[in-house]
Amino acid sequence: MTRDVLVLCYHALSPTWDAALSTTPERFERQLALLRRRGYRGATFTDAILGRLPGRVLAVTFDDGYRSVIELARPILDEFAMPATVFAPTDFIAAEAPISWPGVDRWLDGDHARELTPMTWDELRLLVDAGWEIGSHTCSHPRLTTLGDSALIDELERSKAQCERSVRTTCSSLAYPYGDVDQRVAAATARAGYRAAGALPERWLGGRRAFQWPRIGIYHVDDGLRYRLKVSPALRRVRSLRAPSGGG
Ligand SMILES: [Zn+2]
Repeated sequence: MTRDVLVLCYHALSPTWDAALSTTPERFERQLALLRRRGYRGATFTDAILGRLPGRVLAVTFDDGYRSVIELARPILDEFAMPATVFAPTDFIAAEAPISWPGVDRWLDGDHARELTPMTWDELRLLVDAGWEIGSHTCSHPRLTTLGDSALIDELERSKAQCERSVRTTCSSLAYPYGDVDQRVAAATARAGYRAAGALPERWLGGRRAFQWPRIGIYHVDDGLRYRLKVSPALRRVRSLRAPSGGG
């Protein structure tokens, strides 16, 4: 069987929050069921892209650390016996402060403000105990390509150290906020001691694919046919023609 590694990038789950970065529990369950029927088995992000699992491998990843991940996504993943990976913005987790940066801050004052509550380190540790991976999403969620070298290194190194201190396992992976990566950022990520990092498909720059892994972002509108097209191996191959595999 050909090996196919599919990495999905989700953010939050909610029955009512219709933000682009949220999907409903019903859709999420349907989306996993489709991939299970197609023979995908679950793995953490790092295991999926650096491991040697044969056949169809699915890594479900969640950026930003929203509490709905443990409250709503985990029970569904448990039904499928699939682990997942959370990419945690460590300053927000440590402060137990609502997630707020340009793009999500407009939800801070409305009916959905509660959706911006991050998980705590204790909750992330529970996920590790259940076989999940906790990776870094930097400390403060900046656009990394806009930072000078010392600020860049600080975001990469300090978040990794904080994660390791707080969940007591090695932090092997990182997701670039906004998928924002260039060759300098990818190289600094490797030097900081990470083994893999998730980008989005349009940001392939050459170099090591493990540090620019093309995750597929699944948003509120992605259901039904839109979703099936996004996860289709044939379509992903076409999209990645300029992103040749290998060179891990
Ligand atoms: Zn993010």
